[in-house]
Amino acid sequence: MNKQIVIAGGGIGGLAAALACANAGAQVQLLERASAFGEVGAGIQLGPNVVKELVGWGLESALRQVAAFPLALHVRSASTGAELGCLPLGERTQELYGAPYATIHRTDMQQLLLDAVKQRPQVNLQLGQRVSAFKQDDAGVQVCTHEGLTLVAQALVGADGLWSVVRQQLLNDAAPRVSGHLAYRAMVRQDSLPERLRSQVVTAWLGPRLHLVQYPVRRGDWLNVVGIIQGVVGGELDNWDHSANAGDLRKALAATCSPLQDLVGAIEQWRLWPLCDRPPMRGAHEQARGRVALLGDAAHPMRPYMAQGAGMAIEDAVCLQQELSRDVPMAQVLHSYAQRRWQRNARVQARSIRNGEIFHVTGPMRWGRDLAMRSLGEKLLDVPWLYRGPDA
Ligand SMILES: Cc1cc2nc3c(=O)[nH]c(=O)nc-3n(C[C@H](O)[C@H](O)[C@H](O)COP(=O)(O)OP(=O)(O)OC[C@H]3O[C@@H](n4cnc5c(N)ncnc54)[C@H](O)[C@@H]3O)c2cc1C
Repeated sequence: MNKQIVIAGGGIGGLAAALACANAGAQVQLLERASAFGEVGAGIQLGPNVVKELVGWGLESALRQVAAFPLALHVRSASTGAELGCLPLGERTQELYGAPYATIHRTDMQQLLLDAVKQRPQVNLQLGQRVSAFKQDDAGVQVCTHEGLTLVAQALVGADGLWSVVRQQLLNDAAPRVSGHLAYRAMVRQDSLPERLRSQVVTAWLGPRLHLVQYPVRRGDWLNVVGIIQGVVGGELDNWDHSANAGDLRKALAATCSPLQDLVGAIEQWRLWPLCDRPPMRGAHEQARGRVALLGDAAHPMRPYMAQGAGMAIEDAVCLQQELSRDVPMAQVLHSYAQRRWQRNARVQARSIRNGEIFHVTGPMRWGRDLAMRSLGEKLLDVPWLYRGPDA
């Protein structure tokens, strides 16, 4: 009999999980609380470790149609504009890690996965279904939604994001923590910017208690910009997209160099995300218990300073596919999945926290960082253990 799996959440993680489970021959019920997939005005970077998995799923040509493939990552001082370090991407990344480095609009990433999921008749996607509770025993798992649906399956995958209700019931641990960092995000057409502000590379501008990252998306036609400053906002934390005041960001960047101020000044519309995370995972028990597994932000929400949150969700999904393809009982499938994934996820979570500290360092430590970056640039910016992929 085919394996029956319910997936809670149809974000990048849930869609990737649905594709993975279907590829492994399972029947999938994919439940998404939203009544439609909306446009999310933000970009994401995909390291070669992630692109390799997408290529493995046969999504290379779909990716090439919508993504950008920057040739370099530049690190600059936000104060002076001086270059601190550079990591060549493009061919170097392809040669070393077997896949390129890509940057993509989130909506395009979501659509790419959704199109692939729709080609799998084993996946039944139901929008407007908010998972509210589950019950598991030796025979299976029963999943209920607020809308009154009850489903019975052999496994439940909680891919319901940072504020996961599946996690809450499974682990009953504390709420995500507020990082004290705010992300201002914008997306702008490159041809609406003056020539000198357009860019086809990834640039990270580092300043005291702030940084800004820009990169091309949509085959280079659009520029994604995210500015991180330290601070807090009031209001609902689980509503992570606030209308932001461009003036607040400009004020925070008042002491930065003029190219950076010009870029931020040229963009009118900014959305604001207060960033939350969880401490790095402490064991496999935080990724699966019995017939219930967590995937993506539900399991390991992280600060975005390695640009790998969605990437780790996709890697989780690939691992789930591999484990599901083995002819073993479901609890064993999920146990092996958790064993294989938790340490790498924890490492990326920890490194993301550390990167944020390094990016925002102040005082004499800042000079030390800049010196190290100038002398060791490429070596410091490359992350072979991550980019080689989970099985290297
Ligand atoms: C500023 C910023 C920059 C980032 N940059 C990058 C980057 O460059 N590269 C990268 O890889 N990652 C990046 N990330 C991280 C990445 O966005 C997340 O890790 C990723 O989106 C997590 O996907 P997910 O599917 O696990 O969760 P989500 O995207 O949160 O999706 C969860 C889904 O579940 C649904 N849902 C929630 N509750 C329920 C329920 N009870 N029942 C049914 N459905 C439910 C939601 O509606 C949603 O569709 C960044 C994040 C931020 C904030």
